[in-house]
Amino acid sequence: KEEYLRKPDWLKIKLNTNKNYTGLKKMMREKSLHTVCEEAKCPNIHECWGARRTATFMILGDVCTRACRFCAVKTGLPTELDWKEPERVADSVALMNLKHVVITAVARDDLKDGGAAVFAETVRAIRRKSPFTSIEVLPSDMGGIYDNLNTLMDARPDILNHNIETVKRLSPRVRARATYERSLEFLQRAKEMQPSIPTKSSIMIGLGETKEEIVEALDDLRAHQVDIVTIGQYLQPSKKHLPVIKYYHPDEFAELREIAMIKGFSHCEAGPLVRSSYHADEQVNSAAKK
Ligand code: SF4
Ligand code: SF4
Repeated sequence: KEEYLRKPDWLKIKLNTNKNYTGLKKMMREKSLHTVCEEAKCPNIHECWGARRTATFMILGDVCTRACRFCAVKTGLPTELDWKEPERVADSVALMNLKHVVITAVARDDLKDGGAAVFAETVRAIRRKSPFTSIEVLPSDMGGIYDNLNTLMDARPDILNHNIETVKRLSPRVRARATYERSLEFLQRAKEMQPSIPTKSSIMIGLGETKEEIVEALDDLRAHQVDIVTIGQYLQPSKKHLPVIKYYHPDEFAELREIAMIKGFSHCEAGPLVRSSYHADEQVNSAAKK
């Protein structure tokens, strides 16, 4: 029988189902758009969609060809490619008057280009309609095919984010198809293609890693010239997903943040509720100032 840890108090936050967002949510459905903010029931949605004017869109459908053991996205054979999606995303970004937008996508291993062309077009469409909005892209490793990454980098996003998700030892258990080494190389290649674009990665902790392994992951990211890192608590989306092995205390996150800053990252967000896109608006400038 699997044992489940009790959630500590600092994670028991009330999900505010504020009506203010009903209009925005309705717009998402009308435009057939998906946001990670809603689908992952992200606890930060009110701060992000409200005061911070940040949102994370998930493009290329809501069905993924992979089945990572921490992720709540459906697995299956994706629907066809929707070439009108970039314009709809751009319209919504403009309507929401976003200061910063994160564009992520399911892994489309069924497509030769991994969805790179639609991804790049989404960046361009947002740039045309909202020239002052900073754009962060968060792709999968796009099959590890660097032509696909190049297509995306050519659209000149403001931040290239690609998550290693966990430490080296746990990667084969936690991630599907993606590998630790390939993700590090992906980040390195992105930097080589466009040296002026900051790169970023995220780690979820609480899956059974040691502190030394987290520090090793930070060292590996720096060795591949990654500028920004986020560290957050892993939360189990359902009983079918990997269990939480440890809930880290906010003080432990603060210590990890300090270690990351000493290692030379230009920005680090670390905390129990930190998600890959949390406070992303602050990171564009910090990386540029470096
Ligand atoms: Fe959306 Fe990310 Fe903010 Fe959560 S942290 S609400 S996923 S932008
Ligand atoms: Fe989820 Fe991304 Fe893994 Fe697909 S590739 S299952 S969207 S984490």
